[in-house]
Amino acid sequence: MAARRREIGGVDLCFQEVKARSGIFFNVKLQADIFLSLAQKIPELGFPYDYKSVKPPQARNFKIRVASREEWLDMCDNYLELPGLLCFTDGSKSKSGSGAAFIIGEGGNFMDGASGVIPLGVYATVFQAEQIGVLSACNYMSANPNQHKEVNIFVDNRSVHDSLLSERLMSSLTVELHRALQQLSIHKDITLHWIPSHWGLWGNEEVDKLAKEAASMTNCGPEPVIPVNLTIGKFSIKQWAQNEHRVYWSNLLNCKISKLALPIPYKGLSGKSLGPTRDGMRLTTFAITGHFNLNGHLYKMGLLESPICEKCGEGDETMAHILPDCPAYSALRFSTFLRSTLKMEEVWEYPLKDVLAFLRSGRFASFVAGESREAPTQ
Ligand SMILES: [Zn+2]
Repeated sequence: MAARRREIGGVDLCFQEVKARSGIFFNVKLQADIFLSLAQKIPELGFPYDYKSVKPPQARNFKIRVASREEWLDMCDNYLELPGLLCFTDGSKSKSGSGAAFIIGEGGNFMDGASGVIPLGVYATVFQAEQIGVLSACNYMSANPNQHKEVNIFVDNRSVHDSLLSERLMSSLTVELHRALQQLSIHKDITLHWIPSHWGLWGNEEVDKLAKEAASMTNCGPEPVIPVNLTIGKFSIKQWAQNEHRVYWSNLLNCKISKLALPIPYKGLSGKSLGPTRDGMRLTTFAITGHFNLNGHLYKMGLLESPICEKCGEGDETMAHILPDCPAYSALRFSTFLRSTLKMEEVWEYPLKDVLAFLRSGRFASFVAGESREAPTQ
């Protein structure tokens, strides 16, 4: 069991999380079993995950400076006059992938070859890409010593500064970045600045382009390039569940009326469309399922002798008749949908509130309002 858990890093992590929260081993075991069975179906759960909670060293040897936007209005003209190296880093994420970059300059000029473009595959977050940008710059400066004592690193994502200022370092990447900055600070005066993005500032604009270039590059190696954030696991479980729901619904042989209204599962239905009132919820359920006090439905249940529509006498009185084409409701249909007849699937192309308004105006209005209809005669 232990070896199996080690194989599946994300699951093990979730196991520990559940254990910490519940404190009841019986439940933990149950949860772990669920996660292990999910891990067989969702490849992302087998990825290495980056989650840590480490106290940073007491003494931070590098400085962090987060100037406000107002302060930057004054600094715009003179930040290039800061002594030492000026290092700009950035991370980017696009539909095709993520990437990080850095570029180093001195005295208002970029140094030849002192830049890096790092593609990070599809799973790295923007935050991780930003951290990799700074980490790569630190590694470059460690490997390529220079005479400058001061190093000013500019990052336009505040999360990087916040993660290093936090009481706990919450990922291996943050721990590694903290360590790299501490290491570099042994021989240099390091200041990690925040710089506003999209202000056309020298260095930030150039590194932004490089990071976008990195994000558009194809990653040739296996995914994930770096251990992934916990959100990847949560998102992949959610996506898998939604897909399973979709497949289950499309393969279902019954619920024909409901499937006309909902060809694919619609997760917003309960939150937005049913509305806050009991009446709205009841009517929506009636309309979608067809399980209404209609002759067609009552006949099916063996409560009536005939399913025929009592208004027109032309067809079975079902939702599939009342909503799209019962001639007795042509005028009402026209005033609601601007058409006197429709196909059943077209009804659901109109906003749900229009469908409900149609039903509230018909012969069901009193029933919907809470009055009981006459008991069906047998
Ligand atoms: Zn009819």
